[in-house]
Amino acid sequence: MDLYEYQGKELFRQAGIPVSDGHLAFTSQEARAAAHELSGPVVVKAQVLAGGRGKAGGIKLATTPDEAEAHARAILGLDIKGHIVRRLWIEAASDIAKEYYLSLTFDRGIKKPLFMFTTQGGVEIEQIAEENPQALVRLHVDPLEGFNPWQARRLVYGAGVTDPSEQKQIARIIGQLYEAFVRFDAMLCEVNPLIVTPDGVVKALDSKFTVDDNALYRHPAIAEMRDDEAGDPLEAIAREKKVTYVKLDGEVGVCGNGAGLTMSTVDVVTFAGGRPANFCDLGGGGDAQGVVDALSVITRDPQVKAIFFNVFGGITRCDEVARGILQALTEMKLELPLVVRLDGTNAEEGRRILAAAAPANLSVEPTMLEAARRAVELAA
Ligand code: GDP
Ligand code: MN
Repeated sequence: MDLYEYQGKELFRQAGIPVSDGHLAFTSQEARAAAHELSGPVVVKAQVLAGGRGKAGGIKLATTPDEAEAHARAILGLDIKGHIVRRLWIEAASDIAKEYYLSLTFDRGIKKPLFMFTTQGGVEIEQIAEENPQALVRLHVDPLEGFNPWQARRLVYGAGVTDPSEQKQIARIIGQLYEAFVRFDAMLCEVNPLIVTPDGVVKALDSKFTVDDNALYRHPAIAEMRDDEAGDPLEAIAREKKVTYVKLDGEVGVCGNGAGLTMSTVDVVTFAGGRPANFCDLGGGGDAQGVVDALSVITRDPQVKAIFFNVFGGITRCDEVARGILQALTEMKLELPLVVRLDGTNAEEGRRILAAAAPANLSVEPTMLEAARRAVELAA
């Protein structure tokens, strides 16, 4: 789950990392009131789950509440990389002497958290890595040993920070970032820029914070932070129905049971020359309600032109899945072509049940590849 900047900063604050004061605003009037309360110059910052807001006109400095209100009016409703701005973070403006970059993420290859730090902050990490790779200091932390203060010093000295006060502050922030990463089950914590003010104070001016979805049960307050309007609306419906659903770009709706089979199904659709419209995992079950829930999510996507239903019966029996599909079809009006492949436990009985009662838009194919080809053909 990706957090908004202000939410990530709240977690930073809880970990002791210095951030500026600010207020959330949903309207230009609220932005004005926030600027008034903060008194002094403020930054009006679009809150969207996308980077590069500055370049897109989503971040503006204001010296008066009037100006903050005007900026808020201009920024609210902006489309930043497909995200419509609906909330603003009004923050006490900082004077900036230097912009650094600090992040902590998972290096899946090495299976350890990876720190990256450079004094060349302010621009996107991809650009730094490309144009100035030697300026980027990388350091892995062994999760079993935990974080050691010498690691912070290595990052700070390695990047060439020479001011002793800066060194000390940044080293402390690095330790706090590691604590936040572990404590909140993060996948990514990025501070870009980490600034130094003209008075030599180091603080986090931006935050990108991703929390592991699988750990959200441990963090009800973070789970509450989710903005259902920001994501794909279908993903929100799917979450509500407890269907695993990921929106993709193509035309073939994909539904399998189990993540492994569903992923393979996505691959086979691609192999057959089609493009999957989604990834939908029924999970272990295959009862009528599960089928109805999955189909009701998939069919809400207007991009879907045909559905490929791929089930391998293990503990789940194919005859039950077949009955589930038929029951689902009587409960909901499905006009799209549906291609079913059943294999595994009681597959023959399942196919027989479908063949006997199937409506015209349902076809049953014997193998995964044939079913994929058929679905791709029907979606074309
Ligand atoms: P991003 O573009 O989405 O990464 O948003 P950031 O929060 O990183 O802001 C982009 C840029 O706006 C920063 O790199 C700063 O240069 C500038 N900026 C943001 N907040 C302030 C502030 O308080 N004072 C000043 N002077 N500039 C700011
Ligand atoms: Mn930034």
